[in-house]
Amino acid sequence: MANQIVLQCACGEAINSVSELTLVKAEGAKNEVAIVCPNPVCIFQEIGRCKYESDELSSSNLIKAEFISSFSTWNAINNGIDQTSEILKKMLVEIVKELIPKNKDLKRRDK
Ligand SMILES: [Zn+2]
Repeated sequence: MANQIVLQCACGEAINSVSELTLVKAEGAKNEVAIVCPNPVCIFQEIGRCKYESDELSSSNLIKAEFISSFSTWNAINNGIDQTSEILKKMLVEIVKELIPKNKDLKRRDK
């Protein structure tokens, strides 16, 4: 596919699909899920966050899902803003509708 773009964390790690991302309960924030870079030594760690109304992490309870601006901006610079925002939106939908419901027992991040 000619238009296929590869997303990348600002640490340089390529993110080919949402299944490579790690989802953890966010530290110090109730009912929030952090989307974490697949690179275990990433200096940024968190690339996005999903906020929920309660600890029931269903899509009907979702308040907000977004990638952090440095991640979006980094990819927009590399791949163009239109393509990037489109693919990021699709990834968030996949994370919220498929990944999080399948991972009901999200772990807290190891310190
Ligand atoms: Zn990273």
